[in-house]
Amino acid sequence: MKYTAILLFTVLTSFSSAETSVYICGANGAKRYHLKETCRGLSSCSHEVVKTTISQAQNKGLTICGWED
Ligand SMILES: [Zn+2]
Repeated sequence: MKYTAILLFTVLTSFSSAETSVYICGANGAKRYHLKETCRGLSSCSHEVVKTTISQAQNKGLTICGWED
């Protein structure tokens, strides 16, 4: 029972991570990722806004932007 719950959680987590798109400022050097392309934190971005996935952003050590809800 316990094992099933953990397995289910893992499957759901990996599924949602793969599906969630995020936006970063520039392909390199970004420290934050954004859930919305229209985020306040991206409005001051002077680089290209790059769309990626949340799992890739987290793998690069990026953290969520402070302006997100
Ligand atoms: Zn943001």
